[in-house]
Amino acid sequence: SDHGRVINFGAGPSALPLSVLEEAQKGLLNFQGTGMGVAEISHRSKEFQAFLSDFEANIRTQLDVPPTHRILFTQGGGTAQFSAVVLNLLARYRLLRPDAAPADTVLDYVVTGSWSKKAADEARRLGGATVRTVVDARVYSKDGKSFDNVPPHAEFAFSADPALIYYCENETVDGVEFSHDPQSPAAFPFHLLPRDTLVPLVADYSSSFMCRPIPHLADHAVIYAGAQKNIGPAGLTILIVREDCIVDVDAAAKLGATPVPLILSYKTLADSGSLYNTPSVFAIYMAGLVLERMRQNGGLPYYEEVNRRKAKKVYAAIHEGEQKGVFRRKVQQGSESWMNAVFEVLGEGAEKKFLDGAEKRGMKGLKGHRSVGGIRVSLYNAITEEEVDKLIAYMTEFMAEATP
Ligand code: PLP
Repeated sequence: SDHGRVINFGAGPSALPLSVLEEAQKGLLNFQGTGMGVAEISHRSKEFQAFLSDFEANIRTQLDVPPTHRILFTQGGGTAQFSAVVLNLLARYRLLRPDAAPADTVLDYVVTGSWSKKAADEARRLGGATVRTVVDARVYSKDGKSFDNVPPHAEFAFSADPALIYYCENETVDGVEFSHDPQSPAAFPFHLLPRDTLVPLVADYSSSFMCRPIPHLADHAVIYAGAQKNIGPAGLTILIVREDCIVDVDAAAKLGATPVPLILSYKTLADSGSLYNTPSVFAIYMAGLVLERMRQNGGLPYYEEVNRRKAKKVYAAIHEGEQKGVFRRKVQQGSESWMNAVFEVLGEGAEKKFLDGAEKRGMKGLKGHRSVGGIRVSLYNAITEEEVDKLIAYMTEFMAEATP
């Protein structure tokens, strides 16, 4: 049975695979024969610790994370990482350059959407460094004020010795994503990064984690993602941190760096095996089940192909609608997200009509983010190709009715 479930195109928390939800029902009652449910069992029990270490291994294998990088788990979502990456990398920089004045300590932010902007704003709040906007995509937008593109490579002027370089791989609200085709003008310009030191490159992968391989993973200092889009419930944040970014934050504070709350320190997490305090046991359990299912389905090569096809179909329908004067795309060609496709429905009351019609056909979660409006179709891993086909059939039907 489908338990009366609808097709959930929501942006997050978002759909999870039915088979995983069914398995989790069992784990909620009795986790691996312990006689206790997963939300009731100690995070220090050998059963949970074994589960956690399998989960980590599953991420490491599927993403091909090299031994130079640790995989850590924490709470606080992407938002806590807006602060944590700044504090940890400022501590690292202080240990490397004990005499650098705050004004000479530079944080480079690539701003391609609402989330990277929010991260840059948080860095400014925290102080202790000069926050530079390397590039602001709104400057290159069609209307001069929207996030609708990945800017041209020539505009990415990185600082010579920044304490961090920050970007958001997929902008969930705006539907803008870096291309993973190295030939594309919308690919992240890894070749332009300052190379005389280990690059302190930070990436927010919250809404694109595990949907396809991560290009240049080994070049990243920190990659982080909240679990609640592609791999599980909210409450779990996954971190991939290069060893040189796991630093003694107290030693750095003695040299003048901003003190770091222990729970945000990567060293605290690393030294305790991500069990410094009680983790979100249930969220880890669900995400572990999702990762195991992914492995059984063929891992990232499989999901990359399916996700490529899903996105291609949706954008083809949006473009067709644009030709017919029914829809309008919001994102410039080449910068479109695989995970969040955003568009407008043209005409008075047409957007509501589109959403109502979708709901009648069992499709929910299509309303765009309140800050940008329009329609947003989220195409995370749990959305199947058949479900996308149902949406396309509806979009086609809608176009036929709307065209005179
Ligand atoms: N970064 C991105 C790209 C996001 O999509 C989100 C949330 O949707 C966040 C950060 C904030 O994450 P959280 O709500 O887990 O703090």
